[in-house]
Amino acid sequence: MNISILGSTGSIGTQALEVVDELKGIKDISVLAITGSSNITLLEQQARKYKPLVAVAADESGYTDLKARLADTSVKVLAGEEGLCRAAAIEGSDMLLSSIVGFAGLVPTMKAIEAGKDIALANKETLVTAGALFTDAIKEHGVRLLPVDSEHSAIFQSMQGGTRNEVRKILLTASGGPFFGKTKDELANVKKEQALKHPNWSMGAKITIDSATLMNKGLEVLEAKWLFDTEIDDIEVVVHRESIIHSMVEFCDRSIIAQMSLPSMKHPIQYAFTYPDRFPAKGQSVDFAALAKMTFYKPDEDTFRCLALAKKAGREGGIMPTVLNAANEVAVSKFLKDEISFLGIAEYVESVMSKYKNKSNPTLSDIIETDALVRKECM
Ligand code: NAD
Ligand code: MG
Repeated sequence: MNISILGSTGSIGTQALEVVDELKGIKDISVLAITGSSNITLLEQQARKYKPLVAVAADESGYTDLKARLADTSVKVLAGEEGLCRAAAIEGSDMLLSSIVGFAGLVPTMKAIEAGKDIALANKETLVTAGALFTDAIKEHGVRLLPVDSEHSAIFQSMQGGTRNEVRKILLTASGGPFFGKTKDELANVKKEQALKHPNWSMGAKITIDSATLMNKGLEVLEAKWLFDTEIDDIEVVVHRESIIHSMVEFCDRSIIAQMSLPSMKHPIQYAFTYPDRFPAKGQSVDFAALAKMTFYKPDEDTFRCLALAKKAGREGGIMPTVLNAANEVAVSKFLKDEISFLGIAEYVESVMSKYKNKSNPTLSDIIETDALVRKECM
């Protein structure tokens, strides 16, 4: 199989390359294109090791640097969104792993779908903002959409226990993040260093902050809505502190099927690469006796308002999820620069959402324009 990876230098991208290494001799995967935005040294190392046809740096300075570093190789170096689109749709590739963070992944991922590539999707923001267009394009071009987000991979695997019309509801699990059980007063002064410490997962900064605010779970509700063609209210979020059950599906006979494993993103990445087959994986098995117990709670949507805001945007539909996502991306970057407080993230998103009139059935241009407008107005 031949793949290209958008965001190969990130948390998902580097783990995907480890999976490629681990599958060698069992299922050989060639990496035809890699991309990164900041870590050019790592991108160079990956280019030398995996010998892709193309390596893309997100900006001009990265491009100049990477081109000089790879001058003695046959790797073609490209830049910017145009480069990302070419990498995503590169000839000969069977699958795109879409693992850039944020809205920047949308256009290149759509290009890959149009070029007939299967999509292994980590970049949830693309599905949240352009769910209808994205899923229509998947159908129109007859390609597969394989979830990489661990919860959605779990739902996808659990769904195999019945037919789609036998599903009663989806139980989407959440770790609760580093601030589980805290009150608004206790959260008033938390700093980014505390928010960046996730109890169970090591991830990029943006998704780690989203996990602390529960916006990540909100985005995942919207992601599940599009992936599994479900109503928002048929998706129940359950806080499960141990992150062993990665999500569950309840069928009409009230039987519940769950997917479990120790928390490692390599499981869902490997399954997306090998689906519908399963291959041996490295790592440990769950030791239930050592685990002793698993706990479950209702999420506190009054304190962690981002979850409620995302559901609201999902129910309203139209352009509102794009507004929510763009406002959240801006708010998270402001929080990471100490410009707003932790609780300020939800306030910020809510105030931006209240300023926008909804628009139904947005086109891709509407979505791109609205995303840009929200970012501009937030400057
Ligand atoms: P990360 O920050 O570690 O990596 C992001 C990658 O995208 C890097 O290669 C970076 O160079 C690239 N990138 C960032 N901004 C870019 C831009 N504007 N243009 C081009 N390239 C850009 O992030 P991550 O944790 O790997 O997450 C990637 C995506 O996967 C996110 O959408 C996240 O929600 C999703 N996801 C991540 C995890 C996880 O465990 N890390 C789990 C589930 C879903
Ligand atoms: Mg997830």
